[in-house]
Amino acid sequence: MLLNKVVRAGIQTGLRLQSTSATASARAATSPVTQGGFCFEFTEQQKEFQELARKFAREEIVPAAASYDKSGEYPFPIIKRAWELGLMNSHIPEDCGGMGLSIFDSCLITEELAYGCTGVQTAIEANSLGQMPVILAGNDEQRKKYLGRMTEEPLMCAYGVTEPGAGSDVAGIKTRAVKMGDEYVVNGQKMWITNGGKANWFFLLARTDSDPKCSASKAFTGFIVDADTPGILIGRKELNMGQRCSDTRGITFEDVRIPKENVLIGEGAGFKIAMGAFDKTRPPVAAGATGLAQRALDEATRYSLERKTFGRLIAEHQAVSFLLAEMAMKVELARMAYQRSAWEVDSGRRNTYYASIAKAYAGDIANQVASDAVQVFGGNGFNSEYPVEKLMRDAKIYQIYEGTAQIQRLIISREHFGRFKK
Ligand SMILES: Cc1cc2nc3c(=O)[nH]c(=O)nc-3n(C[C@H](O)[C@H](O)[C@H](O)COP(=O)(O)OP(=O)(O)OC[C@H]3O[C@@H](n4cnc5c(N)ncnc54)[C@H](O)[C@@H]3O)c2cc1C
Repeated sequence: MLLNKVVRAGIQTGLRLQSTSATASARAATSPVTQGGFCFEFTEQQKEFQELARKFAREEIVPAAASYDKSGEYPFPIIKRAWELGLMNSHIPEDCGGMGLSIFDSCLITEELAYGCTGVQTAIEANSLGQMPVILAGNDEQRKKYLGRMTEEPLMCAYGVTEPGAGSDVAGIKTRAVKMGDEYVVNGQKMWITNGGKANWFFLLARTDSDPKCSASKAFTGFIVDADTPGILIGRKELNMGQRCSDTRGITFEDVRIPKENVLIGEGAGFKIAMGAFDKTRPPVAAGATGLAQRALDEATRYSLERKTFGRLIAEHQAVSFLLAEMAMKVELARMAYQRSAWEVDSGRRNTYYASIAKAYAGDIANQVASDAVQVFGGNGFNSEYPVEKLMRDAKIYQIYEGTAQIQRLIISREHFGRFKK
C-alpha cells in the first residue's frame, strides 16, 4: 500500500522511488558498504532518494516554512505529503511494510528536508527516534503492530524519556512503572517531547526498580504506550525559540495501565534500549544540522552576489568571500562526519564515537554558519522578511536535543580514552 502511494506520488513529481525489493537488491549489489574500499560516489538509488527529497524540499517545504514559523501550526499537510512520497519512516523494516533503508540513505533524505525547514524535519525525525527502540528491541508482534500501522497511514510517534528534572542525566528520571498482575501502572511526568501532542504512540522510559542502589542498566524499563490510554494528559504546546512548527510538549502519566505485552525485551532492559537508539538517530540529527548550514551558506552566497557596497558586490570584498569560504569548509566537514557515522553503523560496527563527533560538530557549525549568514545579510539578516534569522533561531536546538554539545564531548572523550588505552 505504501509503495503504491510512493510510486504514485513520485510519478506526480516527475520522480519516483523504486519498489523496496528492487531498491534493497540494488543496494545490496552496489552499496559502498557491501562493496568495500573507499568510495565517495553514491549509488543510483541514493542519488534518486536525494533528488526526490531535494525537489520536495525546495518546491514544497521552502515556500511554506516562513508561514509555519510565524503561526507555529503543525505542518501536517507537508508531513502527509512526505509520507506519500516515502520520505519519512524510512528505517521501518521491509517485513513491517517499510522501506528498510540504511541509516546512510535516510541521512541523505534528512539533510534535504532540513534544507527546507528544520521544524518540519524535526517533526519527521522524531518519528524515527520514537520508532528506533521498537526497531532495535521490539518482538515480531510489537514491530508489526506499531511500526506496521505507520506504513498504512501518516501517523506520528514520539520518544518519551526527558523529564522536568532530568534531561542529560537520564538515570535521574523519576517516572515509575509498578507491575500489577498483567499490567504496569505508570505515574510521572515527561517534558520536551517532540510530537507529544500528535503521537499515536510513545516509547516511554520508566523506572521499575525502586532501589536507589540499582544500576541504571537494570533499573529502567522501555514500554510502548498507545497515546489514547486513559490517564495520559498532554500539556500545552511549548513556544520555543526556533523550529516553532514542531510540536513539543510535557506529558503527564496518571495511573496509566500498560499491558505487559508492551514491554520491550524485558524488565530492566530500558536504559540500554533508550541509549542504544542514539547511535542510529544521532547521524540523522547531524544530517539535519548540515542541511540547515547548507541552506544558510546558499542564502548568504546568493545575497553576496546581489548586494553592492562601495561600488562592488559584497562577494568581491575579501572579508565576505573568506567568510563564505569558512562556512563552506564547515558544511563539507559536517557532511563528511555524518556520512562516516552513518556508514559505520550500517557496516555493523559500534559508531558511538563517530555519531557523537558528527552530532557535536554539525550542531556547532550549524550555529556558526547561520550566525555568519546573518552577518553577510547585514541589517536585513536581523529581519524576519529574510530567511536567515529563522535559520539562526532554528539552529540552536541542535546543540541541545539528543544529547547536548557538552554531553557529546563527554562521550567523545570517554570513547577517545578507551581507544587510546587499547
Ligand atoms: C525542542 C526540544 C525537543 C526535544 N525533544 C525531545 C524528545 O522528543 N524526547 C525526549 O525525551 N527529550 C526531548 N528533548 C529533551 C532534550 O533531549 C534535553 O533538553 C537535553 O537532553 C538536555 O537536558 P536538560 O534540558 O534537562 O538540560 P540539563 O541536563 O539540565 O543541562 C543543562 C546544562 O548543563 C550541561 N550539563 C549537564 N550535565 C553535564 C555534564 N555532566 N557535564 C557537562 N555539562 C553538563 C548541559 O550540557 C546543559 O548545557 C527535547 C528538548 C527540546 C528543547
